[in-house]
Order: sequence, then structure tokens, then C-alpha cells
Amino acid sequence: MPCSVRFTIQAAQPAAHLFDITLRIERPDPAGQILSLPAWIPGSYMIREFAKNIVSLSAKAGARHLAVVKQDKHTWVLPAGLDEPVTVNYTVYAWDLSVRTAHLDQTHGFFNGTSVFLKVHGCEAQPHFVDIRPPRGLKDAGWRVATSLPEATGEAGAAERYGFGLYRAGDYDELIDHPVEMGTFSLAEFDACGVPHAVAITGRHDCDMTRLVGDLKPICEAQIRLFGEPAPMDRYVFLTMAVGDGYGGLEHRASTALLCSRNDLPYAGMDEATEGYRQFLGLCSHEYFHTWNVKRIKPAAFVPYDLTQEGYTRLLWAFEGFTSYYDDLMLVRSGRITEKDYLALLSKTITQVHKGSGRRKQSVAESSFEAWTKYYRQDENSPNAIVSYYTKGSLVALLLDLRLRADSKGARSLDDLMRGLWQRHGLTGVGVDEDGIFALAAELGGPALGRWLRDLVEGTDELPLEAGLKRLGLTLTWEAPNSNPSLGVRTTAEGDAVKLANVYDGGAARAAGLSAGDVLIALDGIRITSANLDKLLARRLAGETVRVHAFRRDELMEFEVELQAAPVDTAKLAFAERSSGQAKALRGAWLATVA
Ligand SMILES: [Zn+2]
Repeated sequence: MPCSVRFTIQAAQPAAHLFDITLRIERPDPAGQILSLPAWIPGSYMIREFAKNIVSLSAKAGARHLAVVKQDKHTWVLPAGLDEPVTVNYTVYAWDLSVRTAHLDQTHGFFNGTSVFLKVHGCEAQPHFVDIRPPRGLKDAGWRVATSLPEATGEAGAAERYGFGLYRAGDYDELIDHPVEMGTFSLAEFDACGVPHAVAITGRHDCDMTRLVGDLKPICEAQIRLFGEPAPMDRYVFLTMAVGDGYGGLEHRASTALLCSRNDLPYAGMDEATEGYRQFLGLCSHEYFHTWNVKRIKPAAFVPYDLTQEGYTRLLWAFEGFTSYYDDLMLVRSGRITEKDYLALLSKTITQVHKGSGRRKQSVAESSFEAWTKYYRQDENSPNAIVSYYTKGSLVALLLDLRLRADSKGARSLDDLMRGLWQRHGLTGVGVDEDGIFALAAELGGPALGRWLRDLVEGTDELPLEAGLKRLGLTLTWEAPNSNPSLGVRTTAEGDAVKLANVYDGGAARAAGLSAGDVLIALDGIRITSANLDKLLARRLAGETVRVHAFRRDELMEFEVELQAAPVDTAKLAFAERSSGQAKALRGAWLATVA
């Protein structure tokens, strides 16, 4: 008889943020059953050691208490020789308001399986059942359950849609890839290419659900049609937590967990989409695109995932970068934003990439590989040391798309490459090896194109943006953000005070010896505040030397700063006034609305 794994999970002490979990193993490994919790969650490339939130753990066989040995930071071993079912009880502390872990209070509960479900070694491939129980002590609170985890239909106690009760996953990997939200969320449903979709929003908000669903449906349909019907999932759920100030998303095979500012949601009577709402739609589009790109088309290094330690791949520029390219592109292709809006978003991305000198030191292949220690663990020096595989990766995708289109006179595009990946890897489950994208690009556009792409990905030269954009009739110009002379810093306000967050390589502050963390006090003897720094600078000229006082570790220091001209690093994209008919046709096809 195969081993059977069954969990119950209950919001046992919402006010104390504690989930109680029971795990029943019918046939524990007689050699000593091993149990473990993942150290990271797929999609978020950082060791998070979720086991640190297990407050207590005990095990019983019948009425007999078992001695459980903790083997390392996230592994437990039951005694050898057990020949009867075992019950493991444990408590998980859930108070991280993010999409990556778990969060519980009197208003709602949210969890990722990676935070709450122990892996029963040897039984990973077996079906896993979870009985999601109503919260304790909150009778008649009206809580429901939103998740893409399938209900255990046909089993005793099976949950109904949005209900508490029994759910079923085909194996452990599936179990931990369906986050669960419980509470009094708002709910709206829609259909995209015949697939049922739902949006659940938790937290106080005044979202116009009809508007939101009206915008999500064409975005989802455009993506399903890009890869080809049928969609790879039976249903899909957008789990959204609305807060005062927050932003984040994590992709799963049939759902996404999102965190957003409630002010970014659409409101009744909203006419044109606000910038915040466009950004939220871009986030939804991004996570939805991952349903194909990374959840099913995966780097070979993630087949299977090893969740005990870092999983190294140089390909995140394709999995995150290409997804970042398509997120906004799908907004214009589904008619949610105008072509002009799209150029503004692209301009912003180009500017972001060009803000830091890190792009000349780290390639996007290296940035992918070092995500665990650098991209996910950024500090004050990051702009000078690293490049984002999201933003620069999306510009690589843009250049590859433009070149494929221009070289083939519109016969081919990046869409073909994505479909090729889907056919060969998504549908087969075969991982993409580290050279796989270069090889596929070479197949589509010739060996020279494959080598060119590799240079963009593995090199640190400036991207050939102007030339690439020109072929589709777009012009890229650069300007300074404003006419003030520059200190070469990014600042944050601390009350009235101005603190240096980043000191950029080659800037005036760096040359003068100022450092990240310094608190600016005065410029030429006049007090600096967050309200007046720009005004003080506006009255000076590039090349002038000013005296700056600052505190470092509460010690007053004085610096002679030679102001510089503001860097000309703000990108502006526009349609060329005069472009060939062919460029116009290519551009039209690139941004065309897909019905
Ligand atoms: Zn992503």
C-alpha cells in the first residue's frame, strides 16, 4: 500500500498568529521517517529558512509520545521501527505580510504550503490531502477559502468551492504550489478562453471589481492565445491582499499571490487608468505570464527544485526578464493602455537600467546566478555593483524581439521563440539547459543572432538600444532629469533630515568623500532639509564647490563638494517622425491588439 499523507490546518490562535497543523502518516518509514520544510519558495530566490517559524513540534503513535530528533535547521527524524500510523502536531507562527510566507490575524489567514506543510520523505510522489478547518474562536466570522488547490471531490468531507473542508494535491510539489487565502475577501469571477478565473481581494478596499475583471479578462486571453489554446490550467485564481502601502507578487501554477496598495485598485467612476492601477495590471500580467514561463517552461536547474539549498541558473534574465518584457507589452496588445503609454513605460525601464554603473560590472547571466546573494540581498552599494535581470533582461527581450522582426521582415518574432519553448519544454516538462535560449534563437534567426544574444546576456557593454529601436521607427533620446546640478546621490527623508541612501560611482558626493548613511546637515552654512535640498541646489551651478556638513555616526564632518552637471540618463522614446513604410508595418504588428 502506498503511503498516504494527510494534513489538517487550522487558524488556531488568530490573535497570536498561530496555525495548528496535524500531519498523519499511515505508514512511516521503518528506518526512521524523515520530515523537512523547504528553505526557499520557488519564484523568490533567497534562502528564507521557513522552519524558523515552527514554534513547537511533537509526534505520537497511538497514545505513545515519540522522541523526535531534529537533524538540522529544517529536518526532523522519527524513531526507527514504527509499524503503525503516526500523528505529528506542530504550530507555525505566521506574521509576515508578504506573498512569500504566511500571515494570520483576526481579519484573515494566508499561507504558502512551503511555510506550513512538512515534506514526508519517501512519500513526495503520493497524493496529499489537506483538511482546511474554519478558524477557532471566530464563530460566524463568515470566512471563506480562496485557493487553486483542487477540492477533494468524492472524498468524505470534501470542500466545496470557496469552502472549508478537504482538498487534494497529486503530490508534494503540487501541494506547496497553491497558496491559500481565508477570510472575508471580495470575490469576482470571469472566464478567459473557457477557463474559469477568480479574483479574491482581502483587506479594506473600494475596488471596482467589474472594472478590474473587465481589464483582466482580455490580458489573460491575449496570453492564452499567445502560447496557444488550450490554457495549461483548469482554473486560475488571483489572490490579492490590499494594504496601505505594499507591492509584490509571486507566481504559482494556477494562481498568484499579490500584495498591492489599496489606492492602486480601480474605483467606481475612475475614467482613465491611474498610474498605480496600470502598475497593478502590469503585476497581474507579469505573474500570469509565469503560468507558462517558469512554472512550466523551467530552467533545467529547477527540474526538480531542490528546496533545501540555493538552485543556481544563469537563465533568470529569460524567465524574469522576458516575463517583465511581456507584462507591459500584453497591456498594450490587449488594449488596456495606449501605444504612447507603453513607450513611456519602456522609457522608464531604460532609465532604471542606466541609473547605476552596476550594469558595466555584472552581466544579466551573472546577475541571475548571483540572485541569491546579490539581487535578493541588496544594500547601499548595489546600484554600483549589480544589474537587475528583470529590467535589463526585459531590454534584452525587447532587442531580441525587434531584431527577429526586422531581420525576418515581420515573419518571426519573440512570440515564436516563446511558443518554441512552450512546445519543447512547457508541454514536455524537459528543463531548458543553460544554453537553450541561445540555441533556440539561433534556430529562429541564424547562428549570428545566437552569438549576438549571448554577447548581450554575458557581456557588460551598453545595449545597442538606439540601433535596435530605429529599425522599428522608434527614436531614443536622453535628457537630464532636471536642470539642477547634481550631488550624485539618492536620498531618503528621515523626518526633516536628508539621509544618503546611495552614493553613485563617479558622482560629486563620492569624489568629496560622502558616504551612504551620512545625514546631510548644511550646504554652505544653510540647513539642509528634505524640503529645501533641491531649492538649495537650484541656486548653484555645475562646477561650483560647496561646503557640506553631515553627520556620520553622530560625528560632524565637513566636505568640499564640486557639483556636477546632472547626468543625462533619462530615456525618452518616441515614434520617429519619418520612418519607412516597412518600419511602420513592423511596429504596427509588434504592438497590434490581439483579439
Ligand atoms: Zn516574475
